[in-house]
Amino acid sequence: MSLPMAPMLRIAKHAITKTIKGDKFPLVLMLEPLLRCNLACPGCGKIDYPDAILNRRLSFQECMDAIEDCGAPAVSIAGGEPLLHREMAKIVKGYIERKKFVILCTNALLLKKKIGEYEPSPYFTWSIHLDGDKQMHDKAVDQDGTYDVALEAIKLAKEKGFRVQVNCTVFNDASPESLATFMDHMTSLDVEVTISPGYAYERAADQEHFLNREKTKNLFRDFFARGNGAKNWKFTNSPLFLDFLAGNRSYECTPWSMPLRTVFGWQKPCYLVGEGYVETFAELMEGTDWEQYGVGKYEKCANCMVHCGFEGTAAREGIVRPLEFMKVAMKGVKTDGPMAKDIDLSKQRRAVDVHATQVEQELEKIRISDPEGYRRATRAA
Ligand code: SF4
Ligand code: SF4
Repeated sequence: MSLPMAPMLRIAKHAITKTIKGDKFPLVLMLEPLLRCNLACPGCGKIDYPDAILNRRLSFQECMDAIEDCGAPAVSIAGGEPLLHREMAKIVKGYIERKKFVILCTNALLLKKKIGEYEPSPYFTWSIHLDGDKQMHDKAVDQDGTYDVALEAIKLAKEKGFRVQVNCTVFNDASPESLATFMDHMTSLDVEVTISPGYAYERAADQEHFLNREKTKNLFRDFFARGNGAKNWKFTNSPLFLDFLAGNRSYECTPWSMPLRTVFGWQKPCYLVGEGYVETFAELMEGTDWEQYGVGKYEKCANCMVHCGFEGTAAREGIVRPLEFMKVAMKGVKTDGPMAKDIDLSKQRRAVDVHATQVEQELEKIRISDPEGYRRATRAA
C-alpha cells in the first residue's frame, strides 16, 4: 500500500524543484493543534504543561494559515490527541480541499466514536500510534488494553476504505525479535509502518528507556537482519533513512524539513527541541541560528536519530544521489560490516534549560488574552 499517485507526485515535484533551487524547504508541516491528551505515556514530552496551556487549541483558521505560511505539501497532525479537538474533521477537510496530504496521528481511543465525521480520500491517512506488539505498546503508553483498541481501529478504518498506517516509536527495551514479529503482523494486515527511535524529551517522566545512537544502530541492524534487510516489510520511511538507522550513513539533521506549529507559535529549532517560539514561519527560517543545533553542536541533540530530523536529509540524498536510493531500495539495508563514522560529540555546547521560562511566558500571555479561561484553569488546577 504505497502512497496514492496524485499526492506522491505533488510531494516529489515540490521536493525536486526546491532541492534544485537550493532552497531550505519544509516537506511536512508538523501540527500540534492542542497539547491535551487522553493518555499519559511516560516517554511523552508533550503533555507536561499546566491546565491553562493544555486547554488551548489552534483554531481552524490558524491551522490553514500555518500550511499557507510554510508551503509544505503535507501535514502531520499530532498533539496531544487530535481527536479531542472539536474542529478536527473540519481542519482535515480544509487541508484536503487545498490538496495537502494529511496524516492524522491518533492513539485511536476515540477513533470508533469519531470515524463517521471523516471521509476516505487519496489525500488522507489515519496514522495509528502503536509502539510494537501488545506487551510493548501497552507498556509504552502505560495502559492495558490500548493495543487491542488500536488494532480494532485499524481494522475498522480499513473496512471503511481509509488509508491506514502505523506510527511506531522504538525504545531501548524493544528486542529485534519482537519488532520483527510485530512487522510481520502489520505486513499481514497490509499496513505500512513509520518507524523511529524515540527522542529523549527532557520533560518525559521516564528517562530510562531512550536509546542512545550506538544502541539504536545495533538494535536496528539486528531487527532489519530478521526481515531480509527490511525488504520483507512495508515502511513509509525512505530506504535511506532506514539505512541511516542501521549505521550505514552519517547524516546531519535537516530540522526545517518538518517544522512544528504548536499552540505557542512556530517552535525553534525543531519538533523535538523547543528553545523558543515565533509568530511566523519566515521568522522561524530567518531568525533561527541553525548552526547552534544538530548532533555534535548541542547536547540536547546528541542522541537524536528521529525521523522528523533526518528523513529530510534522506529525502535530499535520494534526490541528489538517486542511484544510492535505488541501491538500498533494491538490495535492502546492509546489516553487517563496519558502520559509517559517526559525528564527533566532543565540541557540542551545553544544554540550556528553557522550559520553566517558556511556561511562565505562555501563562502570562494567556492571562492577558483570556483572563476568564486562565482563572478557570488555575482554579481547577
Ligand atoms: S498518546 Fe501521544 S500525545 Fe498522548 S501521551 Fe501518548 S505519546 Fe503523548
Ligand atoms: S538533531 Fe536536529 S532534529 Fe534532532 S533534536 Fe537536534 S535539531 Fe532537532
